[in-house]
Amino acid sequence: MEIYSQTIKEARSAIDRGDVSPVELVKAVLGRIDAVEEEVSAYITINRDDAVEQAKQAEESITDGVKGSLNGIPIAVKDNICTEGIRTTCSSRILENFIPPYESTATQRMKKEGYILIGKTNLDEFAMGSSTENSAFGHTKNPWDRSRVPGGSSGGSAAAVAADECIAALGSDTGGSIRQPAAFCGVVGFKPTYGMVSRYGLVAFASSLDQIGTITKNVEDSAILLNVICGHDHLDSTSVSKEIPDFTSLLGQDIKGMKVGFPREYFIEGMEREVEESVKEAIKMLESLGAIPVEISLPHTGYAVATYYVLATSEASANLARYDGVRYGLRTKGKDLLDMYMKTRAEGFGAEVKRRIILGTYALSTGYYDAYYRKAQQVRTLIKRDFQKAYEKVDVIVTPTTPTTAFRAGEKTEDPLQMYLSDIFTISVNLAGVPAISLPCGLTSGGLPVGLQIIGNHFDEGSVLRAAYAYEQNTDWHRNKPNL
Ligand code: GLN
Repeated sequence: MEIYSQTIKEARSAIDRGDVSPVELVKAVLGRIDAVEEEVSAYITINRDDAVEQAKQAEESITDGVKGSLNGIPIAVKDNICTEGIRTTCSSRILENFIPPYESTATQRMKKEGYILIGKTNLDEFAMGSSTENSAFGHTKNPWDRSRVPGGSSGGSAAAVAADECIAALGSDTGGSIRQPAAFCGVVGFKPTYGMVSRYGLVAFASSLDQIGTITKNVEDSAILLNVICGHDHLDSTSVSKEIPDFTSLLGQDIKGMKVGFPREYFIEGMEREVEESVKEAIKMLESLGAIPVEISLPHTGYAVATYYVLATSEASANLARYDGVRYGLRTKGKDLLDMYMKTRAEGFGAEVKRRIILGTYALSTGYYDAYYRKAQQVRTLIKRDFQKAYEKVDVIVTPTTPTTAFRAGEKTEDPLQMYLSDIFTISVNLAGVPAISLPCGLTSGGLPVGLQIIGNHFDEGSVLRAAYAYEQNTDWHRNKPNL
């Protein structure tokens, strides 16, 4: 196996045995980036020289006996997560030259474990989108078929992991942005329970839904990374003070007697046939491992997309008010203050971001607030209750991650509603705040990956990881690699 194809676990053992040094590993990954990045375009910034420098330091620290679960491991970070001294653009013109004066808590914790930042990955502007086509800095391609999208908004991170341009990556998920691109790119994406990972330093899109999570080559690596990034942080008042278990110790426990719910509302008309077949096969596989399948109902599923697009846009309209050309980011000259605000925002934001600010401002305005925003909050509660009820009967819920495999570039850019519908199976999870993983469960006859979503109860990432790991150990889908 090539050095750059390794998982975190494999790279850790190789370094610890002395088979490979952090400098060799980083250079191998940079070499891989040189070989394939032109075709994939996963990165906005490649942290070339600094990464090699960090690797040298990691090497010295290892010689000095310093441990660290990520010491010397090159990991990519979505470009809406602040990295001190390194440009963080959110794929927006308005932050094109923004260099954060502080580090996000998630990456700070990874630094403490010795990780090496290999680069910042492309995304839909401010994480708004499902295809990474809303970036101001070019489109990322799906490594499995470069005429198709990698999904989004964490499309750069998912493509970088799938193309072996990093060992693992961080993403963020507001309505599916980790799981949907992970499904499209044939890798593993984990969105933790809301509050498990600090949002400090994650550029806010919709604060009650946003959550940082992992994109990795297998389930075990997501447990390793979650161990590092989860946990209370006094810099984020919505992060929870809870004892974080060692997630890796839960892997390998059997799933005999585990109750696996499959919601009837998720097997819908219009779903791609091969997606449905792969997911049904996966449920059978879980059954053969001792899980008990239970048909359940999440009756408010049909309202999830509409509810999400009222709430997410409302929160976005408030969060994005801070980009006014005064405090940081782009400033365009105007004849007076108001003119400067307007010109800066007109030039700095892309079309989708503007659309959402307008939608959200409308939903929050006097006269419409009760009809839209308040109503959506009420429906959100009903959706959350659907899940609470279901978890009285089952341990995890299994669904397809997406109704289709990766679509063609340009296919949905003219029709925002079609684009919004590609998150139909992931959005409820954010509204309810529960944890979920997407992992590979098939390849279509056309050679495109299919994703299986496993959803857990609040703070029960453990059951999700156990079920996902058991499935993965008994299948080979995660071993498939794109032809690059
Ligand atoms: N695709 C969804 C949206 O456009 C979700 C994005 C996300 O999770 N960041 O809002």
